[in-house]
Order: sequence, then structure tokens, then C-alpha cells
Amino acid sequence: MPLRAQLDDQTVQAWQYDPPTWAHLKQTYRQHTLRTSCCDQPAIPKTSTLGTPFFAHARRGPCTTAPETQEHLLLKAQVALAAHDAGWTVTTEYPGHTPTGEPWVADVYAERQTPTGTQRIAIEIQWSPQSLQETQHRQERYARSGIHALWLMRRLPTDTDDLPSDSQLPLFLLDGTGPDFLVQPMEAPLSTFIQGALGGQLLYWPRQPGPARLGLSTFTMPCWRCHRTISLIGQIHLQHPRYPHVTFWVPWATQSSVGDSDEGSAAFQALLVDRLDDQHRATLGLGTLKIRSSRTLQDAYLSQGCPHCDALQGDHFVNQHLLEALREDTLQAAPLWWPVSLTSDLMHSASAWFFLSRTSGP
Ligand SMILES: [Zn+2]
Ligand SMILES: [Zn+2]
Repeated sequence: MPLRAQLDDQTVQAWQYDPPTWAHLKQTYRQHTLRTSCCDQPAIPKTSTLGTPFFAHARRGPCTTAPETQEHLLLKAQVALAAHDAGWTVTTEYPGHTPTGEPWVADVYAERQTPTGTQRIAIEIQWSPQSLQETQHRQERYARSGIHALWLMRRLPTDTDDLPSDSQLPLFLLDGTGPDFLVQPMEAPLSTFIQGALGGQLLYWPRQPGPARLGLSTFTMPCWRCHRTISLIGQIHLQHPRYPHVTFWVPWATQSSVGDSDEGSAAFQALLVDRLDDQHRATLGLGTLKIRSSRTLQDAYLSQGCPHCDALQGDHFVNQHLLEALREDTLQAAPLWWPVSLTSDLMHSASAWFFLSRTSGP
């Protein structure tokens, strides 16, 4: 069910018609030559039961285009219109091939001229399930053709709950049954998301080593030894240097802080030790960060301590109370940020997609 056809010598796209002009085309197309773009066969303008204008094949001919669902058709039309509204030149069911001649057809293809060249994007809608392997294969085929592809899928392509999405495979989930779809995990209406993605509001961070801001959150509790109220670091934050809500955190430490220690957390701890001076600690009510011996673990490790009696506040204990503070929403973000340089060991498994609002930014 294509959205694109040839009307006499003109290419027409069904999503570009408003209701009156679509009704007019339905009344007058017989006086013209209307043929499908996929297989150059006679076409009929129709409206799907979900209200999407499309061009039907007059009869099932030699066309090899796979049949598509009403939802797929509707989504394709919504994506095309949003991309068009974002100022891109849009073609649905766009055929192309890799430099070695492997063919592909993009659901929605969009391009625009920039001072540095032509930007070319394919947006693929997957209403029916598609494996991760097949998705990666198709992504790679687009990459070889010089095209960035973005996936909108109704179902995760894996058996796990993890979204296998990164800068090499931008993949997002479709939520809803239409006509109003949401894109997850952004919680963004489909057209808002498409316009934002094509307008530079979709950001994968951190993507490469570079500047960031380091911060922390604390919670309070009684010291197990002297029973005075003390502050402990619960989370270490990293923030984009320009966009404050582009941020992620790691716990002060993983529970197994000896032996198989999480290199991610250790690297963040090291950053913090370098920057948290006596004055900062006094302001925040924190003890010193230093190597202490743990009788429980029979080992010594970089730990937090009581600011009054210097008793070791074990990582296991800190993390348990972090979970409690998260549940009870009692974490305090420290009003301190330090510029840091993100190295590749700090980026380890922490990167994620962010959708910037139009008002965020420098
Ligand atoms: Zn066809
Ligand atoms: Zn104490």
C-alpha cells in the first residue's frame, strides 16, 4: 500500500493531500494516468480504515512490495509529514542501493542540504517484529549507502527488556495503537520526536571523550559508631557541559567493592577524590575519602568515613541506604559542579539517548 504514485508526469504523495484535495483526486483520477511508484501499475486513491490516504494497486500484479498493516501505513504518513514540516525533502518507499548494488527501500527517506553537504536519513517503521540481527543488517546496509537510519519499533528486537539502542543503531519504541503514538523512552509524541530528531534535538551522550561536569548527591544518617548525624555520598553525577538535563549517575560504589570491583564506579570515585577538598567536605558534612581497612571484608579500599569519628562507612552499608534514600526521595544534590574531562573508561556502559527540549541549551 504505497503512499507515493505517478499522476501523469508528476510524483504525488498521499500524505501531502488535505481532505478536500484528496476527495477531489478520488473523483478525477480516472481522467488522468495514475500509476504506482513501486511497480508502475494502475493505482487507485483510497483511504484506509484508520483514515490514511494511500494508493492501492488496481489489481494484484507483479508487484513484489510486501503487504503492510494499516498501522504501518498510518505511521509512515505521520513520519513523512513531520519530516516535511521539519524542512526536509521527503520521499516514502524510497528505493536505493549500496555501492555494490544491494537494493533497499526506505519507508521514509528524508534529505536536506546543509553548508557541509547533503544530510540523508532513512526512518524505518517496524510494526511487525524484526530480529536484532536483521535490524543490524539493514542498518549496516544503509550505512554503506551513506545514510543514517533511525528505527521506530513496536516490539523490542530482543528477548530482554533492554533497548539495544546506541549511536550506531538509533532504535526507539512505538507506544499506542494510533492515531496518537508516543515514542519511548522519550515519552514524546511521534511528530514532536521526528521533528526534534531531524532538528538536532536527539543526542547520544557521552559519545566520545570530552568535557563534562562532575557532581554528587548526598543523604544523611547516623554514624554506626558515634551515632551523630553524618552525610554520605550516594550518587556521583556526570552532566553534559551545556545541557543540564543530559546527565547520568552511578552509585558511590557497587556492592562488591573489593575483588570484582566495578571499574566504572572506581574511576568516578577517583575523579571525586581529586576534586573534593576539605572546604567542600565541611560544607557538605562529609568525612574524608581515603583507603580504610575493613574488618568485615578483610581488605582495605577507598571508602567514606564519619566526619566526627572517622569510622569507615562500608560500601555495602552506603548502597543499602542509597536505595532507601532513592525510595524516599531524600537525596540532596550538592550545589557543586566541577569541570572534568571524560575519558573512555568513564563512558563505560553509561551512554544514553536524550531528547532535548527546544528551550534547553546554551
Ligand atoms: Zn507495486
Ligand atoms: Zn562517627
